[in-house]
Amino acid sequence: MMAHFDVIVVGGRPAGATLAARLGLAGLRVLIVERAHMPALPGASCPIIYAPTMDMLDEIGADEGAYARGTPKIRRMVNESAGLEAAIRIPMVNGRDYAYAIDRARFDYALWETAAALPCVDARLGASLIDLLWDGDRVSGALIRNADGAQERISADVVVGADGRFSTVARKVGAPERDEHDEFPASIYYAYWKHVAPYDDQGAAAVAGGPGYGYGYLVMDSADDTAVVAFEGQAALLDPPAGETETFYRNLIAQNPNVARRLEHAEMITTVRGMKSIGNLYREPGGAGWALVGDAYHQKDPIDGQGIYDAVLTAKLLAEQIIAWKRGEVLWAEALTAYDQRARRETYPMYMSTIERSRASLYARTPEWLKTPLRWMLQDPLMQEQMGLMLTRQVRASEVQMLPRMLGAVARGPLRDLSRLLERMAQT
Ligand SMILES: Cc1cc2nc3c(=O)[nH]c(=O)nc-3n(C[C@H](O)[C@H](O)[C@H](O)COP(=O)(O)OP(=O)(O)OC[C@H]3O[C@@H](n4cnc5c(N)ncnc54)[C@H](O)[C@@H]3O)c2cc1C
Repeated sequence: MMAHFDVIVVGGRPAGATLAARLGLAGLRVLIVERAHMPALPGASCPIIYAPTMDMLDEIGADEGAYARGTPKIRRMVNESAGLEAAIRIPMVNGRDYAYAIDRARFDYALWETAAALPCVDARLGASLIDLLWDGDRVSGALIRNADGAQERISADVVVGADGRFSTVARKVGAPERDEHDEFPASIYYAYWKHVAPYDDQGAAAVAGGPGYGYGYLVMDSADDTAVVAFEGQAALLDPPAGETETFYRNLIAQNPNVARRLEHAEMITTVRGMKSIGNLYREPGGAGWALVGDAYHQKDPIDGQGIYDAVLTAKLLAEQIIAWKRGEVLWAEALTAYDQRARRETYPMYMSTIERSRASLYARTPEWLKTPLRWMLQDPLMQEQMGLMLTRQVRASEVQMLPRMLGAVARGPLRDLSRLLERMAQT
């Protein structure tokens, strides 16, 4: 007899684990398979998460004390690029005024455990999707290789690909790609370090900087007194020769004195990892017997740190539709349309803003005449507040980048410069 589940979820990290937990909490029988043996790191990711992501994790009972164990609360994001120095405070959202540069192995495992603890959820680590089973044109289940190597055919009403950027489910069903943007390809390289000198004495921070064109860096305080040091840049520029990634990465550090200074007595505790020419796209949300969620559905440049939020959000939206469908409230085609429409409404403005930020910060040279207005904008308290609200998804990117708002920030700049000058003169 073939085992049967309401839903098979392929992939057990932010999207898959939170989807399985939501479906399990609603009483659906769920099989979740993850080919890794957790705790383990995912392919590549050195992320920061904000309060709205944590809010959604609260909804499924994930324990902040477990997924953020030993991780300092980051309350500000600092830009230390010469002439554009500014700091954004993380805004208070539902009682949290901080972010975490989480340890992905710890974070993902805590989410996995949250799902696995539910009686309706059969959670299998070290188990891979090998192939899909078909009933005519409809996906009817999955061929799974379990951790002991045995292959098992399992049927399900729906198979969900929560299996990341390079989704096997998407490939097997031939899911069409949409809204792809590859005009400004970016690559990223990073490693974790211990004994990194603090940015200052004001507590943990996420600190960005760089030469102003081609690439930039990000240093974020993370779990257990570590910090991640990442470089993101134009794909053609950040292209280390085979076998020389670490040398290339260390050269980038040497070229940026602010980073080099902080790492003077530090020790690199991981290998240099990364991703070349990061994809920016959506895929078809689903079809007969299948659906996609998280990065498998929508992936983008990590420059704005929104991937985990989107993964957890799309899992929530898909779970709502699967539950409604299983209760007979909607047809499967209607469920997929509603999922796609809501997911796009919530993610598309931020996606377009991320594509633009990637272009502007990696591919555009700022002309000299624009540097001062840009500084006025970055240093404007109202603009900073809006940017904090945008990163925490409290306002849409398009609202923050409205022309009158930007002009207002620029208009206030000279007054601020003048009052600073007067202050300095009064002190001398
Ligand atoms: C360098 C980098 C930095 C980033 N920084 C940030 C950030 O600051 N903030 C942020 O929010 N996001 C960031 N992201 C994005 C974030 O990592 C992703 O959006 C997030 O991991 C997506 O979660 P997911 O669950 O959809 O997929 P993944 O985390 O990729 O998980 C997919 C899982 O599926 C499993 N799998 C794949 N195929 C199979 C199979 N056949 N059978 C069984 N299991 C399978 C894989 O083993 C994997 O564990 C970053 C990404 C990169 C690359």
